[in-house]
Formats: sequence, C-alpha cells, structure tokens
Amino acid sequence: EVQIINVSKHFGDLAAVDDVSLTIKDGSYCCLLGPSGCGKTTLLRMISGHETPTHGEITIGGDIINQKPPGTRGTAMMFQSYALFPHLQVVDNVAFSLQMKGVGEDERREKAMDVLDKVQMTHLAKRLPAQLSGGQQQRVALARALITNPKVLLLDEPLSALDEFLRLQMRAELKRLQADLGITFIHVTHTQPEALALADMIVVMDQGVISQAGSAEQIFNKPKNAYVADFMGGWN
Ligand code: ATP
Repeated sequence: EVQIINVSKHFGDLAAVDDVSLTIKDGSYCCLLGPSGCGKTTLLRMISGHETPTHGEITIGGDIINQKPPGTRGTAMMFQSYALFPHLQVVDNVAFSLQMKGVGEDERREKAMDVLDKVQMTHLAKRLPAQLSGGQQQRVALARALITNPKVLLLDEPLSALDEFLRLQMRAELKRLQADLGITFIHVTHTQPEALALADMIVVMDQGVISQAGSAEQIFNKPKNAYVADFMGGWN
C-alpha cells in the first residue's frame, strides 16, 4: 500500500499540501479530486518523486521512499502525450526507458509490443507520434509508463485534453486496464463524474488538506461538510 504520513509541501509561505495523511490500498483505483490549486498535483508529484516533502513520510510497500529518485520507487507517471519523442516510432517511444537501462533491442521491442497490446496499439507500432490521433497518443503515453512494470501508476488529468467522445472511451479503458493489471492507479482530476466513474476511493482535497476520503457512494451520499457537498453537487 501507499502510505502518506503527515506530509506537507511548502512553497515559500504557501502550504500547497498541509499535513496530509492517507492510506491507498494495493490494487485500488484512487482519484485525487478537487478544484485548481488545491494541491492534488503536488501530492502526486511527491508520490512520484518529482517533489520532496517539506515534512512527513511517504511509504510504498512499507519502504520509506521520500529520498528515492523517480523511477526507483515502483511508481510510474503517465505524462501527457506531448512528451512523446516526435522522431521515434511508437514502439521505440515505448521502449525508450529500457534502452536507457541497457536492455538489448530485441528484448525491449518484445516488451514494448507486450504493453502496446495491453492498450490495443500493436497495429500502430511503426507510426510516428504525429501520425496518431490524440487518443492514440494517450495510449502510447500509457504504454510508456506501463513498460517499467510499476506497482503504482500515477496519472495527472490524463483525460483533460480529449474531446467528450474520446474522454468517455479512454475513461472506460483506464478502468478496464486497472482491473486487468491489478496495480494501484492514483489519478488526479478536477471533474466529479470522472472520479465517480473510476474510483474505488475518492480523496476530496481543498486548499492543501483532505476534506474527505472514501468510496464514491460514501462521499456522494454522506458528504462530511458543506464544501464536499457543494463540490460533489456538480454531478448530474
Ligand atoms: P491544478 O489542477 O490547477 O494543477 P492542483 O490542485 O493540482 O491544481 P497544485 O498544482 O498542486 O494544485 O498547486 C497547489 C498550490 O501550490 C497552488 O497554489 C500552486 O500555485 C502552488 N505551487 C505548485 N507548485 C509550485 C511551485 N513549484 N512553486 C510555487 N508554488 C507552487
């Protein structure tokens, strides 16, 4: 499990994340939900290793990971599709991190095709990113994160750049993939329907603190305070 223990992150005078504690069970789909600026990205980036907590501890599977660099802590971040290398074919984009680790070409291509299969993209393995639709590029970005075999996949607004139709399609895909892989997904979103559709556990954040954490049902039916009720009220 992922344990966040009294974690804060200060930027100057601002506590972007303020003494947050949270346990995320193995194999769960967790959504960090809240309006712009509430600290959800900062929390995600502390789990990924792209930010270091000012206070507190983060553990994964019982290991304290605060000081471990990204990529060595069993997490992978799905970056936006614009982070793909434009000059590399899909298969080589996906295999890139293995190349950095010195894995031979045949093995890395085989592994890349394996994860491309999981996101239903093997037929486009030889394309360049510019020859793909937005949704297809997202799938490649997802495959690129999965090839590292993470215990925890971190996603920051993965659906926000897609149009309505693709968004619903990719949303269903993410849910299916998480259930298939059985690994933990931690997904940042500011959209209530997204969290309600995807999450086993929703964590509602407000100004650096957790307002409420629980199942969609608990949060929607028994909001803990007016902020949560108001925020979830946007659902219809
Ligand atoms: P959004 O959905 O807009 O990305 P968020 O909920 O993910 O919002 P964060 O990005 O975590 O929020 O930001 C939380 C607060 O911390 C914001 O007030 C933001 O301006 C501030 N912040 C984030 N990163 C930095 C930084 N590197 N330096 C200074 N302030 C920062």
